[in-house]
Amino acid sequence: MGVVEAALDGGFFVRWLTAAAGLVEREADRLTELDSAIGDADHGANMQRGFAAVVKAMDAEPPGTPGAVLVAAGRQLISTVGGASGPLYGTLLRRAGKSLGEAPQVSVAQLQEGLRAGVDSVRTLGGAAPGDKTMVDALVPAVEALGDSPDAAAAAAEEGARATVPMLAKKGRASYLGERSIGHQDPGATSSALLFAALAEVAR
Ligand code: ADP
Ligand code: MG
Repeated sequence: MGVVEAALDGGFFVRWLTAAAGLVEREADRLTELDSAIGDADHGANMQRGFAAVVKAMDAEPPGTPGAVLVAAGRQLISTVGGASGPLYGTLLRRAGKSLGEAPQVSVAQLQEGLRAGVDSVRTLGGAAPGDKTMVDALVPAVEALGDSPDAAAAAAEEGARATVPMLAKKGRASYLGERSIGHQDPGATSSALLFAALAEVAR
């Protein structure tokens, strides 16, 4: 059975976030480099701190359901990351988790619905629309492509992150740079692509 039809349980979600933490760890220097060009050079450290806390919480007390895993992870990100990305990613996961409710297993279609609700909450919280050169530019196409497959979502997120290079930043620290934000890839869109790369990896 392919993952698109498969039921995803709590263990799958723990594996997803653990894989995400691994990719964040591996790519932290790159995230910080991108953030040093158009931000304050802390995105790698922020993501590392946040996802290390997520993994630690999962290890200490593995939440049972997919919804509980995402809500617990979101809470960790909000409470451990000082930068803008913590509350934004925390909101994404918490809102997605709440939308999955208490179901012991969910389909990829339900995950897509949950993440769609999560991305809407990110947009409400941060006020960013597609084209503003933020994580939203990777998250929106990734969630739409998740209807096809996790691999398609990962590719769409990657493409969305690359598409931020020529954009003028309208939200977050990079927006303070105005025209000088053009020509650099957004750090948050880049880390969003890692989250979807991790999802595709564990779904394979
Ligand atoms: P900070 O900007 O506080 O230093 P980080 O460096 O960890 O936080 O994260 C920066 C990333 O957060 C940006 O690259 C962008 O993708 C994302 N971001 C910042 N502000 C917003 C916003 N208002 N809406 C959506 N995403 C945002
Ligand atoms: Mg920063």
